[in-house]
Amino acid sequence: MINKLEKIVGRDSILSNGKEKLRFDHIWKTDIPTNAFAVIFPKSTQQISEIMKLCYENNQKVVIQGGLTNLVGSTITRKNDLVISLDKMNQIEEIDEKSRTITVQSGVILEDAISSVNEKNLMLPLNFGAKGSAQIGGIVSTNAGGLRVLRFGMTRNLILGIEAVLSNGEIISSMKKITKDNSGYDIKQLFIGSEGTLGIISKVIFKLEEKPSSRFSALAGLTNYENVINFLKFMQKGLSGSLSGFELIWGETYKAMKDSSLEYSSLLDINFPYYVIIELLGS
Ligand SMILES: Cc1cc2nc3c(=O)[nH]c(=O)nc-3n(C[C@H](O)[C@H](O)[C@H](O)COP(=O)(O)OP(=O)(O)OC[C@H]3O[C@@H](n4cnc5c(N)ncnc54)[C@H](O)[C@@H]3O)c2cc1C
Repeated sequence: MINKLEKIVGRDSILSNGKEKLRFDHIWKTDIPTNAFAVIFPKSTQQISEIMKLCYENNQKVVIQGGLTNLVGSTITRKNDLVISLDKMNQIEEIDEKSRTITVQSGVILEDAISSVNEKNLMLPLNFGAKGSAQIGGIVSTNAGGLRVLRFGMTRNLILGIEAVLSNGEIISSMKKITKDNSGYDIKQLFIGSEGTLGIISKVIFKLEEKPSSRFSALAGLTNYENVINFLKFMQKGLSGSLSGFELIWGETYKAMKDSSLEYSSLLDINFPYYVIIELLGS
């Protein structure tokens, strides 16, 4: 099996015979080595397809690994599993400024995609704490949310096109750049949030926004939960669509944060039961 896999990706793109233990299954557990039969790093959709065809014919179990930032143990492996890592599928294929889209391979790290469109005065509104490690394939497979869901929606709302490889190696492609598309079944939506159960996502097209020319953030302390809801409604109404983030912090968490670092010492008093961080993106 290893020989056949090596023929597909080359010897430099597979770890086996103990070398797989140089890897780990989660970014917070880097001291626990991967327990698997091998780790393979395809560089193209075609290579993923050939790997999957071989695994299908040989009843070989596979686990797909992206940036390993999930919080549910979904990238943990067993000793007979083959890990398919998307680390080498890291090409940003196109930024189309006219149609305001970015086409990426699924191993691209979110922060790299955000920075590359930023340079062209465009914005990919996806944003969350793990953006420096999470990969596009993992993000799409988990339908990740993040800090700007309130205004721009979940990952699902930002995707125009997907290419994926099924378990038998078949490649299916719905790589469209158009928003106004009513042509039958929307296959890509099945893959979004499917946690790798339907196939391996190999490429994605995201729609982009014009880069906002202003960004403001603020921290507010609130005396009860009803006021949190009222404050949200008040801000949404008053800011007419420019409120992009509204993150709630419980009083205990805020206190722990302030106690742990002098950096936060000049922030609000610790006696509020709720705090909210808000973000505005505007013209
Ligand atoms: C500090 C921190 C903050 C976070 N904040 C948020 C947040 O605000 N909102 C949120 O929703 N999540 C958040 N997360 C969770 C996590 O970042 C997301 O779930 C992320 O989308 C996972 O991406 P990944 O590349 O790390 O995927 P992985 O952890 O590698 O994989 C996740 C799942 O996707 C599958 N998978 C990976 N790549 C592919 C592929 N190409 N094709 C098919 N299946 C694939 C894996 O098999 C696994 O089931 C946070 C995590 C951390 C550590």
